[in-house]
Amino acid sequence: MAGRAFDTSSMQVLKFGGTSVASAENIGKVIAIVTRALAQGPVGLVVSALGGTTDALIGAGRAAAAGDESFRQALRQLEGRHLTAAEALLPTPAAQAEIQPWLTAQFAELAGLADGIFALGELSPRTLDRLMSYGELLSSRLVVAAFEARGIGAAWADSRQLIRTNSRFGMAQVDEATTGQQVTYFQKNTTEKLWVAPGFIAADAEGHTTTLGRGGSDYTAAILAASLGAEKLEIWTDVSGMLTADPRLVRSARPIARISYEEAMELSHFGAKVLYAPTVQPVRQRGIPMWIKNTFAPEDYGTLVEVSPPPSPGVVRGLSSIGHLALLNLEGSGMVGVPGFAARLFAALARARLNVVLITQSSSEHSICVGVNEADVPAAQGVVNEEFSAEIGAGRLEPLRPETGLAIVALVGDNMRNHPGISGRLFSVLGHNGVNIRAIAQGASERNISTVIRADDVRKAINVLHEEFFEATYKQVNLSILGPGNVGGKLLGQVGQQQTYLRDKLGLDLRVMAIANSRHCLVSDESGLDLRTWPEDLDAAP
Ligand code: ADP
Ligand code: ASP
Ligand code: MG
Repeated sequence: MAGRAFDTSSMQVLKFGGTSVASAENIGKVIAIVTRALAQGPVGLVVSALGGTTDALIGAGRAAAAGDESFRQALRQLEGRHLTAAEALLPTPAAQAEIQPWLTAQFAELAGLADGIFALGELSPRTLDRLMSYGELLSSRLVVAAFEARGIGAAWADSRQLIRTNSRFGMAQVDEATTGQQVTYFQKNTTEKLWVAPGFIAADAEGHTTTLGRGGSDYTAAILAASLGAEKLEIWTDVSGMLTADPRLVRSARPIARISYEEAMELSHFGAKVLYAPTVQPVRQRGIPMWIKNTFAPEDYGTLVEVSPPPSPGVVRGLSSIGHLALLNLEGSGMVGVPGFAARLFAALARARLNVVLITQSSSEHSICVGVNEADVPAAQGVVNEEFSAEIGAGRLEPLRPETGLAIVALVGDNMRNHPGISGRLFSVLGHNGVNIRAIAQGASERNISTVIRADDVRKAINVLHEEFFEATYKQVNLSILGPGNVGGKLLGQVGQQQTYLRDKLGLDLRVMAIANSRHCLVSDESGLDLRTWPEDLDAAP
């Protein structure tokens, strides 16, 4: 076999989501972007299933398990979609002659699997993972064929042989060490400069197919980037970056140019669907810069996720929300001064594998309140009431009281801890707009302030908060400094020191857009230059 073909530290990992590969036309855009990247160096390409495929496969599986024969029609439709895409992508009969029988064989296998589910009337998590895996297997093979038809060699990298997980089907956990070894093995045996891997899927130690959780293709790409020590990770999607709020809720949401790993993690944990939350950790650990870019507007700047971005003008970096939340309230005089109640509560929930989204405890220690997914309420009630059955029986604790129909709205920003008054503004804006706050939690990092409100109030709350923290009208003054010698340099230092004060106190947004000396010219994107690092940035500028 060939030796190591190239140094993987020059590798770029690019991931394209479901909309980006939804049709032949869109896959054409992907090919153009990847071809440009290949001119810079080797590329690891990760693709999702054709948009909507995973949902369609789950639907077909559930229908089959319920004895509903409509699953056959659903699978035929999917087959038609893939065949149409293949036809449009592969112009020559020779190329089509190769992929079409393969696609037909895959759908015959899928139909066999679905027939089995129908016959048994049961869809286990393991079988569901197998069923869903066809989405990414099909899309990745189609993309390989499309590159090859254009004379660009591509190696198909089977993620089931690269990423090792445990056997928690539906949301498997990655074994980093084995994954690292498997990726190295693949790399040593591959000379192609382009790899194409299916996102979302992996395998356990027995070789059973597993999946990484819905939206998990982002995570696949991050795992590969980290295992390779890649130069950068790019997540290509259908919006121009991570936005200040969910664009489906806030029309004026706008891209965040630069954001820290921690802020991105926090926003995605609290519902920003653009990035699957576990994605951040592997690249953060290796210090790999991550971009979020728009397949349909590749020239847009997008979002750079990095170690220390310049501070956000309004302190808050972004807003996010999670729906379908329930609060569980454990309350009673029996808790006062008795240690260990909280530990028992969390241990009981953990044993039942129930995820706690948020915790608050009143200072009187009279009650503990935890936020869980609404769907988990019956299970949580069962385990908690059982754990505390003695205390409830003796009247020292109330039976667990769930409240449903709630949501979390979170403000996220690294610098919130240095700026008193953010929570005050949050409460007063929500209060003025008639939004009742049921609970609050502020992480110890103070990077996140979360409020629990009624789910019906989310749209209103996010919009008024967005207006308060992102749409305040600042008077903008743009400066360009030509010849930053002694005087110019001092001026830049003063501007840097005063920027936040001027914005917060006088509503003046003073930005330096360009600095030039006789040798270099540094020009900013929309957000203004970073005045902490301008001397080095200017030296590095063209
Ligand atoms: P992909 O299929 O490319 O992985 P997703 O649908 O998973 O794309 O994520 C992109 C979508 O996330 C956007 O179309 C947008 O509607 C939604 N979204 C929610 N919150 C945000 C946010 N804060 N910034 C950007 N997009 C967001
Ligand atoms: N296709 C999978 C899903 O829809 C994974 C992904 O798109 O990231 O969840
Ligand atoms: Mg996604």
